[in-house]
Amino acid sequence: MKRIPELILNLLYPRHCPGCGRILKNQRALLCPSCRQTVSPFTEDYCLRCGRPVEPEQEYCAECSRRTRAFDAGRSVFLYDERWKTSIERYKYYGYREFADFYAEAMAYIFRSVRAEWRPDLIVPVPLHRKKERQRGFNQSWLLARKISRLTGIPAEKDLVVKNRATASQKKLSAPERKKNLRGAFSVRKRITGITALVIDDVYTTGSTVEEMAAALKAAGAAKVYFLTLCTANRPR
Ligand SMILES: [Zn+2]
Ligand SMILES: [Zn+2]
Repeated sequence: MKRIPELILNLLYPRHCPGCGRILKNQRALLCPSCRQTVSPFTEDYCLRCGRPVEPEQEYCAECSRRTRAFDAGRSVFLYDERWKTSIERYKYYGYREFADFYAEAMAYIFRSVRAEWRPDLIVPVPLHRKKERQRGFNQSWLLARKISRLTGIPAEKDLVVKNRATASQKKLSAPERKKNLRGAFSVRKRITGITALVIDDVYTTGSTVEEMAAALKAAGAAKVYFLTLCTANRPR
């Protein structure tokens, strides 16, 4: 019985491949056959703190060796190259929300390798300001968080952290500007003493969002804060 509405839905809104954007011939597949050959997660030579790419013999990236971080550690699935930039744009702005199924599976795959070490109690999406969420129609991080929660059995809480103000888009800002732009932008709505939180976001670029989230969560009592993002930017300039 369940199959009929799904079939109709697929005819009306065919699912696309998150790797290349083409309509999936097999509507049940997460990736098209050709992307299945070329898409691979980034699992070697990453910074032990922030998960960004480093030289093979390096343990920490330049930024993580220079200063302390509010988060404890984080990992990402893919390098933020043209393919994933386009994919995430389609997902966020052009209605390809079905990509979240593949994204969440990929993130849960990476999470499996760190789960025993991190042992998070709670999954926390990076919030959007409510105005922005209304404009966009959804919060891309919450959709991922919800799906990852279903895949891992770890509870996710949408409104634990809220974005207090609409901040300028981070896209065109430098790292210090991004930091300043976000300062005090998040607040945690209850005490979470002793909790280990796992922050979910789509992309880790300069790290200022995750950093600010981790600081807010720790100020509210979190013992540890980890993060998982779909993509991570290349080595800092
Ligand atoms: Zn494809
Ligand atoms: Zn690092």
